[in-house]
Amino acid sequence: RTLAELTARVSVCRACPRLVEWREEVADVRRRAFAEETYWGRPVAGWGEEKPRILLVGLAPAAHGGNRTGRIFTGDRSGDWLFASLYRTGLAVQETSVRAGDGQRLIDTRMVAAVRCAPPANKPLPEERAACYPWLQRELALTADSVRVVVALGGYAWQAVWPALKETGYGMPRTRPPFGHGVEVPLSYGGAEVTLLGCYHPSQQNTFTGRVTAAMLDGIFARASARAGK
Ligand code: SF4
Repeated sequence: RTLAELTARVSVCRACPRLVEWREEVADVRRRAFAEETYWGRPVAGWGEEKPRILLVGLAPAAHGGNRTGRIFTGDRSGDWLFASLYRTGLAVQETSVRAGDGQRLIDTRMVAAVRCAPPANKPLPEERAACYPWLQRELALTADSVRVVVALGGYAWQAVWPALKETGYGMPRTRPPFGHGVEVPLSYGGAEVTLLGCYHPSQQNTFTGRVTAAMLDGIFARASARAGK
């Protein structure tokens, strides 16, 4: 399998009835600001370099972000923070990511959601997390040869990626350390050193309250670049 095949297959997944209904209803009704747009309304695949050195793992697409634009973290507030930081740290060619085909491109980096359909209230159910897990694991398996840093954006991504890394064959500690901003776990893959790095999610709640600042994000991505040998 290739990443292109994985993308094609996941784009038509309908395994979670509640999420299929929600992603399509949101696409149907739309938000007033985007009333003229055709929403994607489907699973949002991984996006970025085919042989990334840095892999970012988020939770799930936003209803009016990735579920609208078809590209992960694109067209929502979390993405605005994320892409601005990636740009400042040399991992993206543009400061913003507003829609597919806007010229944005990631450098040595790929991003993926642990759950690929937008969930109501941004909260996937345990069975939906479990149903989407194999897609995440396959993406890890297809990128493991090049990945040197995995950045988990938020506690859920931290939990979700752990068993997927293990199943993929990464060498890792027996127990998962608690998630935290800047927590680093040394892993290995095929003789190469790999780092798992925790980063608070740049959600609106976190950025509004100052729990996440631009400097904190920049610190993580600068460190990810350094660990990835860029
Ligand atoms: Fe399929 Fe994942 Fe979407 Fe569920 S969340 S329908 S498993 S792509």
